[in-house]
Amino acid sequence: METTATADRLHEMLEQIQVFIDEEVYPLEAQAHGKSWGDVVPLLEEKRQKVKAAGLWTPHLAQAWGGPGLSLAAFGRVSECLGRSPFGHYVFNSQAPDVGNMEILMAHGTPEQQQRFLWPLLRGEIRSCFSMTEPEHAGSNPVIMSTTAVKDGDEYVINGHKWFTTAADGAAFAIVMAVTHPDAESPYGRASQIIVPTDTPGFRLVRNISVMGDVGGGWASHAEIRYEDCRVPQSNLLGAAGSGFTIAQERLGPGRIHHCMRWIGICERAFEMMCARAARREIAPGKPLATRQTIQNWIAESRAEIDAARLLVLDTARKIDEHGAYQARVQVSVIKFYVAGILQNVLDRALQTHGALGMTDDTPLAGWFRHERGARIYDGPDEVHKSRVARQIMKQYGVRL
Ligand SMILES: Cc1cc2nc3c(=O)[nH]c(=O)nc-3n(C[C@H](O)[C@H](O)[C@H](O)COP(=O)(O)OP(=O)(O)OC[C@H]3O[C@@H](n4cnc5c(N)ncnc54)[C@H](O)[C@@H]3O)c2cc1C
Repeated sequence: METTATADRLHEMLEQIQVFIDEEVYPLEAQAHGKSWGDVVPLLEEKRQKVKAAGLWTPHLAQAWGGPGLSLAAFGRVSECLGRSPFGHYVFNSQAPDVGNMEILMAHGTPEQQQRFLWPLLRGEIRSCFSMTEPEHAGSNPVIMSTTAVKDGDEYVINGHKWFTTAADGAAFAIVMAVTHPDAESPYGRASQIIVPTDTPGFRLVRNISVMGDVGGGWASHAEIRYEDCRVPQSNLLGAAGSGFTIAQERLGPGRIHHCMRWIGICERAFEMMCARAARREIAPGKPLATRQTIQNWIAESRAEIDAARLLVLDTARKIDEHGAYQARVQVSVIKFYVAGILQNVLDRALQTHGALGMTDDTPLAGWFRHERGARIYDGPDEVHKSRVARQIMKQYGVRL
């Protein structure tokens, strides 16, 4: 549980952040409309400087790294608040995939790696990406991987083909998963994580894939990348050799709390928009949409689903805070598919309530509807998480799935 002092600090932070989102971030949405990433960056940079000046920068970090030192559950509340705008997390430097990479570098980076890659990331001077999924293999079971990193002198030579490397366009470095120990007995011991600066010869960004919901490259893009005899010093190895999957797993527990709370932020904003539209839009003289039972059902169902989702996610975060991500792994899978589903439901109802307006980019709903379809796929598709949950439960009944 939070101490009272922490609870007071969190309350104060949430208020400050909400005011900043209302006054500074929401107006960006209209300004950014139709622009490429490159054109939006200066607008975002100006806001980032204001966030720094307000002492709200990188709210996910421990005090040792310059952050407020919130628990995961407390940061979850902040993540919900930031999630209310597509730009919220970025403006506060708490955006995926950088947050996950920061966590890896804080936990496993050498002092030299932290100096060169982590601190500039924390200061918001550079961006990064995480390069694991390959087009030729099922990303749902990433232990099957073709990318290799072979030692040659004091270097690794990396060869492989990746895709869906989010935010690679303009990133300063990638953390690449590559097979370094093909003969390891456990398939989970075969890969390592290696830092590859994107200006290394042999790092080839083939294209930004055209993905539903993406806008104009940069941070909000997904790249296909080829690693062609790409040489980096062996000192770029992150953590122990062969520990790539262990480290990736560590990254995923907290990462799913961040995503789920961001989705709840989206749900809350979509819900408010749906209710406001239902109150204003008259379908007959003096009869707003809200007078119709279908709309009332959507309002009630959405309210119940969002509240249930929030309680579930915060309880999972508390469990991770108290017992670690491994102990909470079943609940982490539950929230991943459950909240992704609620997000689709709420966005769909809000969009439908807006009629044709919902299909336009005059509100954030259509952009979210396109972009957040991926929530049911990235960080593990629904079906994989449901299988994992059922497998753990059925163990108690003596059935091994
Ligand atoms: C928006 C977005 C961002 C991403 N960002 C990154 C990134 O930054 N870095 C990175 O490395 N990767 C990233 N990915 C890739 C992501 O991790 C993979 O898409 C995901 O792991 C699924 O792998 P796949 O696409 O190869 O689908 P596949 O593994 O081919 O699975 C296809 C479908 O099969 C079904 N399925 C799979 N396994 C099972 C099972 N065990 N039981 C039942 N059904 C099953 C599911 O319905 C699944 O959707 C991103 C993906 C998206 C959509």
